[in-house]
Amino acid sequence: TAIPRRREVPALPQGVTAEAFQTAIADLRTLLGAEHVEVVDKALQDGWYMEHPNTHDMMTILDDEEFVASAVVYPGSTEDVQAVVRWANKHLVPIFPISMGRNLGYGGAAPRVRGSVVVDLGRRMRQILDISGDDFTCLVEPGVSFYALHDEIQARGLGDQLWVDVPDLGGGSIIGNTVDRGVGYTPYGDHWATHSGLEVVLPTGEVVRTGMGALPGNNTWQAFPYGFGPFSDGIFSQSNFGIVTKMGMTLMPNPGGHESFLYTFQKEEDLAQLIEIIRPLRIRNILENVAQLRHVTQSVAVRGLPRTNFYEPIDGLVPEDIIHEAAAKSPTGDHTWAYYGTTYGPPEVRALKLAAVDAAFLKIPGARKVDTSTFPADEYFWSRDRIASGTPDLHELRWCQWVPNGSHIAFSPVSPIRGADATALYALAKQRHAEHGIDFFPAFCVGLREMHLIVEIVFDRTSAQKKAAALACLRDMVDDAAKLGYGEYRTHLVLMDQVAGTYSWNDGALMKMHETLKDALDPNGILAPGRCGIWPKRYRGRGWEM
Ligand code: FAD
Repeated sequence: TAIPRRREVPALPQGVTAEAFQTAIADLRTLLGAEHVEVVDKALQDGWYMEHPNTHDMMTILDDEEFVASAVVYPGSTEDVQAVVRWANKHLVPIFPISMGRNLGYGGAAPRVRGSVVVDLGRRMRQILDISGDDFTCLVEPGVSFYALHDEIQARGLGDQLWVDVPDLGGGSIIGNTVDRGVGYTPYGDHWATHSGLEVVLPTGEVVRTGMGALPGNNTWQAFPYGFGPFSDGIFSQSNFGIVTKMGMTLMPNPGGHESFLYTFQKEEDLAQLIEIIRPLRIRNILENVAQLRHVTQSVAVRGLPRTNFYEPIDGLVPEDIIHEAAAKSPTGDHTWAYYGTTYGPPEVRALKLAAVDAAFLKIPGARKVDTSTFPADEYFWSRDRIASGTPDLHELRWCQWVPNGSHIAFSPVSPIRGADATALYALAKQRHAEHGIDFFPAFCVGLREMHLIVEIVFDRTSAQKKAAALACLRDMVDDAAKLGYGEYRTHLVLMDQVAGTYSWNDGALMKMHETLKDALDPNGILAPGRCGIWPKRYRGRGWEM
């Protein structure tokens, strides 16, 4: 879809005149080559997941013109990235790095400050620099997607040895997903925890390598993440302190087989007992991966049919009995909760774990192990099975079709793995969804000692009223959750100030430290101002927060 422009084109960064911008762009073209710089002066083009725009958020929840780039630049090397950063300091133009820009639900490719120049690393920096079948590690550039790494491992004949951990959608960048602390669904699902070594261009243009990478001639950059001295990697995740140009990642050894399983639970109130059952199994690694406990509405929506297929009115919630009726007609059958899990290892090892899970889950009255052997090939269960065994997939996108022009935005608080916490979060989110007239899609993703509740709000991005309702619902849930002690693990650009504000212990001491770091590393405040609520001093306190 082409979106006509309604404000000045290109969107100039505040404080930069049209003339100064033209001079700066001419300079950038000289530095990188004219073919690697594009001014965004035409209608914005929305696409779909695989052909997404790099100029704005194709799932925008605000006005299309709010988070929009003035230009996009395509560096081809670390040296090019350094040149772009030095250029931004010279002209005081804000820049916003993306690896591939598929951060849908969290802002896509959009910059937080209107008129920033998007630095699209993924178009030209897409080398897989190393895959080690001995150490089970790799080294990648920002443009390497989960699909690309998976395919290369197969092409090198290493597919029966090495697994890549993949998120629900495999088209994203390994670096982009990891620096945003994204998650996948094998036992290596915590991507940040499984990375090892970064190369980073700092906001003033110097390049650093973290961990063992700082030792010239080292041979363990991808094997030992820490090196010597402070562990600095953390400040380059969910931040605006540097541009990551290379990253090491550990790869999972093929465990010698896997088996996915599906249990369903009938009643809404089974949630508390089920979570109490899951916790010890998960901590003891009987449940081995970040499994998902999904609500029936999402089970119905992921079939890819619009809600009008089940319920004609376009406003109000689809009644629960209609949702259950639809679930009953699906291969999974009627349920309120569906648990998708996978067990790993040779058959005899799997059998022991599966028996322990079975005995524990079937304690809940009405619990059912679903026979998946007759499920058709395009049933969602098989997508979960592929993802849990390191094969990238796109099936998850289907629930976006629940409403016309389906877009989504996520509420994702962290909590202990306790029945009482699950119930409290579920209740507050359900109530807020009802108040705002939004169908409720909760899923609990259980990590090792905590869980994320992921609630996807699906909205029609062409409807100002639906967007406003989705945003109001989110803002209410973030505040309600924070009052009960729950914070978001990650958030959309539009909510970053609010979420950062909830992490306010000791008079906002953590944010004060982040601001001190920001001002030291980025004295001109050119790199992704406002990302994760961190504003450089040039912007701070001038009304940018939202
Ligand atoms: P990018 O968009 O490139 O990066 C994300 C952000 O990180 C950027 O905006 C930028 O601020 C920063 N950044 C990126 N690269 C750099 C860099 N090199 N240096 C400094 N900063 C950088 N996510 C999950 O984690 N798990 C899921 O299971 C999951 N499921 C999803 C399901 C659906 C249906 C949808 C639509 C989305 C889902 N997502 C999920 C969210 C998203 O699709 C992925 O996280 C995706 O991998 C992020 O896009 P990307 O990798 O292209 O990152």
